[in-house]
Amino acid sequence: MVFLKNKDDGPEKWKEKYLRLLDDQEKTDKQYKANEDLLCKTIVRFALAVKGLNRQLDPHINRIRNLLKGGLQSELLQKELAAFSTALIALEDSQLTSQLDAALLFEFLGKQYPNRQDQLDQVQEQYESHQFSTNQAFYLALLNVIDATKSSDHVEFTLELPGADIKAINYQLIRLLDNAEIPHIFAEDAEKIKGRLHAEQALGPIFDDTVALLLAVKTHLEQEQQEMATFLSKLTEQLTELGVKATGVNVANENSLKKRNLLDRAVSEQITELREQSESATQLEPLKQIVNSRLTVITQQIQAHNLQEQQERDKAQREMQALSDRLADMEHESSELRSKLDLAQYRATRDSLTNLPNRLAFEDRLLHEMARCKRQKTPMSMMVWDVDLFKNINDTYGHKSGDKALAAIANLLSRHCREIDFVARFGGEEFVMLLPETDASSALIVAEKLRKAVQNSSFNAKGDKVKITLSCGISQYIEGDTNETLFNRADAGLYTAKQTGRNRCVVV
Ligand code: GH3
Ligand code: MG
Ligand code: MG
Repeated sequence: MVFLKNKDDGPEKWKEKYLRLLDDQEKTDKQYKANEDLLCKTIVRFALAVKGLNRQLDPHINRIRNLLKGGLQSELLQKELAAFSTALIALEDSQLTSQLDAALLFEFLGKQYPNRQDQLDQVQEQYESHQFSTNQAFYLALLNVIDATKSSDHVEFTLELPGADIKAINYQLIRLLDNAEIPHIFAEDAEKIKGRLHAEQALGPIFDDTVALLLAVKTHLEQEQQEMATFLSKLTEQLTELGVKATGVNVANENSLKKRNLLDRAVSEQITELREQSESATQLEPLKQIVNSRLTVITQQIQAHNLQEQQERDKAQREMQALSDRLADMEHESSELRSKLDLAQYRATRDSLTNLPNRLAFEDRLLHEMARCKRQKTPMSMMVWDVDLFKNINDTYGHKSGDKALAAIANLLSRHCREIDFVARFGGEEFVMLLPETDASSALIVAEKLRKAVQNSSFNAKGDKVKITLSCGISQYIEGDTNETLFNRADAGLYTAKQTGRNRCVVV
C-alpha cells in the first residue's frame, strides 16, 4: 500500500485516510480467513467423498483432515499434501485393479441391505484380514449374507450413496462375475450382464440382475452337488453289489478269499477317497473327472483281480485235468493188470492141453469141498481116472495123436458130469473128479456111465478108429479125512482096477 503525500492534505485528512485503510485491512483479513475456511471445508468434503475409495490413500486423507485443523499454513500439512500427491501419482501408474477397493462395495451393499449390516461388516473384516483363501470363497460368503431366499428386507434399489462412483461399482461387479466360477449354462447371461456393466448403465436394475444371476449360479451348484451325492451313493451301492457278486466265486479257496479281501479293501479305499473328494468338489466337471479316474482305478483293480482269478482257475482246471487223466491212465493200467492177473491166474490153474483145471486147482477145490462137507455134513465122493495102456497109443500113433486123445477124453468126462461136479487133469494121462452131495454108491453109478461112454467111443488117430478104456478108483469123504487120505483111498481103488483087468471102477 503506497501513501502519497499530497500538499492539500491536512492532518484531519490523514487520520481519516488511516482509519479507512485500517478498515479495508480488516475486511481483507476477514475475506482471507473466509476463503481459508472455505478451502479447508472443501478439502474436508473432498476427503470424506474419496474415503474408502482406496486403502492406500485413506491414511493420507485422514492425516490431511486432522492437519487442516491447524490451518493451511501448517508446515506438516504441506508435507502431507506433498506425500499425498506422490501416493496419487504412484497409484495412477499402477493397475486399475489396485485403485479400487471392496470397501465401496461393502458400503454400497450396506445401503441395499441395511438389516444385514452386521454380517456384511463381519465378511468385510474377514476379507480385509485376508481370511478368504480364494475369491470364490469370498463371493460365496457375500452371497450367503445377501441371499434373496433368506432375506425379507431387500429394498427396492435407490442410489443413496453420496459420491458413489458407478464405474467403480460396476468394476467390482465385473470382478465378482469374473472370479465366480460360472457354469456353462449361465455363461451367456453372465457375458450379457458384463457387457451392460462395461457400458456403465444406471446401477439399480443391473445390480439386481447381477445378484439374481449369482444366486441362480449358487442354487445351481448346490443342486449339482446334491445330484452328485445321490449319484455317488448309487455308485457305491452298485460297486458294493459288484463286490458281493465277485466274492461269491471261489469262496472255498482260502487263497482266493484273501485276494478277494485285498480287492474289497482297495475298492472301498477308492470309494472313500471318491466320497471325500466329491464332498469338497463344488462343480460337476471336475467331479466327473474325479469319478472317472477313480472308477478307472477300481475297474482296473477288479479286472486285474478277475484275470488273476481266471488264470488261477485255469491252472487249477489244468491240474485237475492232469490228475483226472493220470487217474484214468492208472485205472486203465490197473484193469489191464487185473486182466493179466486173471489170465495168469486162469492159466496157472488150467491145463493148456485139455483146458481142464489142473492139479493145483484140484487141490484148492478139494480143500474147499472138504470144508463144506465138514460144515454141512453132506457126502462127497472122489474119482481118480487113468487111461489104460496109454503108452501104446503114443507108441503106435505118436505123441501128437496121444495129445488129441487126451483132449477128447477130457471133453467127454466134462460133458457127462453135473454142473456141480468138478473135473481136473491130475497129470499125464490121469484125471480126477469131485462129486459134491454124492455118496460112493451113487458115484460108482456115475463112474460106470462114464467108463462105458469112453469105452463106446472111438478116437481118430491117423485114420484109424482107436478104442480107449479107462480105469477108476472111487472114495467117499469120511469124517477125519485129509485130502491125502481121501485121495489115497481112491488111488488104491484105481490100483485094484488096474490089477483086476483094467476098464473098471472100484470103490474103496
Ligand atoms: P497102464 O494101463 O498101466 O496105466 O499103462 P500105461 O501105459 O497107461 O501106463 P504108463 O505109466 O506106463 O504110461 C503112461 C504113458 O502116458 C507114458 C507117457 O508117455 C504117456 N503120457 C503121459 N502124459 C502124456 C501126454 O501129455 N501126452 C502124451 N501123448 N502122452 C503122455
Ligand atoms: Mg498112469
Ligand atoms: Mg495109464
